[in-house]
Amino acid sequence: MEDPSPTPDRDKCGRCSGAKCCTYITEPLGTPRSKADFDLLLWQVSHEHIEIYKDSDGWFLLIHGRCGHLEADGRCAIYDQRPRICRDYDNAWCEFDEPAEKHFQLHFRDHAELLAYCRKRFRRWDSSPAQ
Ligand code: SF4
Ligand code: SF4
Repeated sequence: MEDPSPTPDRDKCGRCSGAKCCTYITEPLGTPRSKADFDLLLWQVSHEHIEIYKDSDGWFLLIHGRCGHLEADGRCAIYDQRPRICRDYDNAWCEFDEPAEKHFQLHFRDHAELLAYCRKRFRRWDSSPAQ
């Protein structure tokens, strides 16, 4: 979310094709524990562009979607007015250096992947529906 313009002090962003950090958002989830919790996650991950992951900070919804302000050349169209979260993003070590997925402890890209996890986690997943 740093300025992707190819200025000398932001050379790294200038070399980053696609500006990955501007193409998705994440939202924290409460830690799922019950079958009902996972039933809700199964519904969420059934939707297009939605994934779920867990890392050392907890569980998150990952929502793929290019920011409407990201220009074709990778620049931010509202750079001077960009939101605080974009201003605070530190590119010292970012997805240009390694994919965020490397630190995922769990990652569910679709309903099938999460359902397989639920069946392993809850022995009677199929025989007793979530309440
Ligand atoms: S992923 Fe890193 S290098 Fe690429 S635009 Fe974002 S902050 Fe810059
Ligand atoms: S507002 Fe600008 S810096 Fe922030 S995500 Fe959108 S394009 Fe990236």
